[in-house]
Amino acid sequence: MPATKFICPNGNRIPIKSCLAACPQKERCLFLPTLRAIAVSVDRGIKEPTVTELIAGVRETYLKKTTDFAVAPQSVLYALHGQAVHTINENCTDGEILSEIRLKDQITSGKFDLYGKILDEEEGVLGDLKVTSSFKLMKALGIYKTRVATGEIYKTGLKKGQMKYRNELRADGVKHVLDWAIQLNYYRMLLEKEGFTVKRMFIQAMCRDNNLRIAAERGIDQSVYIIPIKKISDQWLIRYFAKKASQLYIAMQTKTLPKICSSKERWHDRKCLDYCDAGENCPYGQQLRFEKAKQVS
Ligand code: SF4
Ligand code: SF4
Repeated sequence: MPATKFICPNGNRIPIKSCLAACPQKERCLFLPTLRAIAVSVDRGIKEPTVTELIAGVRETYLKKTTDFAVAPQSVLYALHGQAVHTINENCTDGEILSEIRLKDQITSGKFDLYGKILDEEEGVLGDLKVTSSFKLMKALGIYKTRVATGEIYKTGLKKGQMKYRNELRADGVKHVLDWAIQLNYYRMLLEKEGFTVKRMFIQAMCRDNNLRIAAERGIDQSVYIIPIKKISDQWLIRYFAKKASQLYIAMQTKTLPKICSSKERWHDRKCLDYCDAGENCPYGQQLRFEKAKQVS
C-alpha cells in the first residue's frame, strides 16, 4: 500500500486526497504542485518488490505493502530532489546514452539511471544518481574523525597537566557503500542479461547539505562526488535477493509479520525512531518511539 495520509506540520493527519482537494489550514504548508508531486512520488504503482525494496528490511517492505501509513510532506521532499536530478539527466542523454529503463528478471525489477559513455570515452559505464546527506557521503568516502595529540599540555583548570587533543579528519577508512553497490550490481546483472556489457560502475552523489558547517566538519567540501563501485559476484547477488524475495513472498501469502529488520537495515534503530515510514505500524518501531516520547515528556 502506498502512503495514504499526510502529516501536517501541526501533527494532524489527513488523507492525501483530502489535502490535495482543500487544505483545512489557513494556508498550505507547501505549494499545491509540490504536494501533488509528493503524492505521485509516494505511490509508484509497482506491485512486485523492486531492487530497492528488497535491499530494505523485509519487515519494512512488508508493512509498506500491506498497511496504510502517513508521511510528512516536508520530510519526503528530498525524494523529489532525487527525481528532479534524474529527469534533468534523462533529458540530456542526446539519444546515445540509455537511461531510466526498468528491467526485470524472475526475482525482482530495477530501473537503472544511466548506461553508456557517461564518464570518458569508454562505452559500457553504468551510473547511478544519488542525492544524499553529508553524513552518508562521509561514510561512503571513508572519512572519519580521529583524536590527535597536539603536544601541548593544559596549564590550568581541571585538566591541568593533561595532554590537549584536537579532532582530525582522515579519508582512509572503510567505504560504507554496500547498499549502493548491491543496487548497482543488480542493475549490472539485469543489463548483462539483456546483452549489454557493463565495464565500470559509478555513483554520482550530490550532497543535499553541502553548504552547511556540519558538512565541512564531516570533510564534505564538494557538492558532488563520483564514487567508483566494485563488482559483486552474481552468485552472491542472486542468493541475497532470492532469499529476501522469498521471505517477503511467504509473509505476504501467510499475512505474517516478518522478523525484525537487521540492525544494519534499521540503521542501529535510528531508522525505526525517525526515518522508517512503516515505523508506526511496526511493534518494534512503536516501542522505541514510545520510549523516546516518555524520555522527552
Ligand atoms: S497542505 Fe499541508 S497543512 Fe494543509 S492539509 Fe496538506 S499537509 Fe496538511
Ligand atoms: S521500524 Fe525498524 S524494525 Fe520496524 S520496519 Fe521500520 S526499520 Fe524495520
